Amino acid sequence: MSETRDTFGRPLASLRLSVTDRCNMRCRYCMPEDDYVWLPRESILTFEETARLVGVFAGLGVSKVRLTGGEPLLRHDLPKLVEMIARDARITDLAMTTNGLLLAKHAAALHRAGLQRLTVSLDTLHPERMLAFAKSERHADVLAGITAGRAAGYDRIKLNTVVIRGFNDDELADLIEFGRANGAEVRFIEYMDVGGATRWSLDQVVSQREMLELLQRRFGPIASVPGDPASPAPAERFRLPDGTTFGIIASTTAPFCRACDRSRVTADGTWFLCLYAARGIDLRERLRCGATDEALAALIAATWRARTDRGAEERLGVRERGALYPVESLRADPHREMHTRGG
Ligand code: SAM
Ligand code: SF4
Ligand code: SF4
Repeated sequence: MSETRDTFGRPLASLRLSVTDRCNMRCRYCMPEDDYVWLPRESILTFEETARLVGVFAGLGVSKVRLTGGEPLLRHDLPKLVEMIARDARITDLAMTTNGLLLAKHAAALHRAGLQRLTVSLDTLHPERMLAFAKSERHADVLAGITAGRAAGYDRIKLNTVVIRGFNDDELADLIEFGRANGAEVRFIEYMDVGGATRWSLDQVVSQREMLELLQRRFGPIASVPGDPASPAPAERFRLPDGTTFGIIASTTAPFCRACDRSRVTADGTWFLCLYAARGIDLRERLRCGATDEALAALIAATWRARTDRGAEERLGVRERGALYPVESLRADPHREMHTRGG
């Protein structure tokens, strides 16, 4: 397998594939508006086109693929795409992030198709909070999805929790305990000012330091779990005195850009080198105009080699920090939305 490195020596190793920009939730930190501009249906890549692109990326060193969205389980027949990607032996880590609403229905088929790892987003244990914060009454379906995921064979599910001051910062310990009781590990994520987070403000961000202080008060001393230097991960892991582990992704106060090996392809085949990048590269047009795999690979490799992105680190230097884009700018280019780009 060839390796492709950017200007900071970061390998092209991990790909987030957004399979749809649609979602059946409206999380306040991601989709707080009343209406959205969607990607045109005819622009959405077919499974064959997506799998072909994954193959080209794999030839350049990508071994990790995460399916995301929008809500990936809204994409019809998703296990079929999973099966197509899983067939490629160069992809050694195939995962998905989902809000869990439809997971109970699909978990077994996804596992059979070759999906190896599952992350379920769970911000609160209180149904009424989910209704207020994500406009969904289906909290029980998320919990049923987690149970079904375990029954299907995912014994180490990760739970993603975006921590927001005044919303769920009083639930951190309960979420860890929920994870412990349900064979899952929680990863707390600092609220990020990504495109789409139009209600973002710094005072709502609960920092990693604050989270640890809160948890130490409840559980006692917390130890840091050393990571694997060979495969750096954005989540720093910690261990409670009873051995329970959890992670924190300090993407806002201590970003991970220096080791970032990930890029993103949207459902319409636009390739982004960074979550914060203003523009992406249109791979769909080239695919549909008959570009060969070699031509696509040459374009992707040359673009990655010139990569200088470190969006979250640059945001640290912004004074008077607020939402990344105003709503009008998101409507003019929905690719700037987190739900289009894939978290
Ligand atoms: N819909 C799926 C879900 O929610 O799991 C997948 C897509 S979602 C964009 C992927 C992840 O991004 C979720 O875990 C979500 O919590 C996270 N996310 C979205 N907006 C965020 C924000 N403003 N700050 C931090 N994380 C965010
Ligand atoms: Fe929430 Fe995920 Fe949907 Fe965004 S894409 S609104 S994070 S469920
Ligand atoms: Fe990677 Fe960009 Fe996120 Fe930094 S902000 S970790 S460079 S995707």
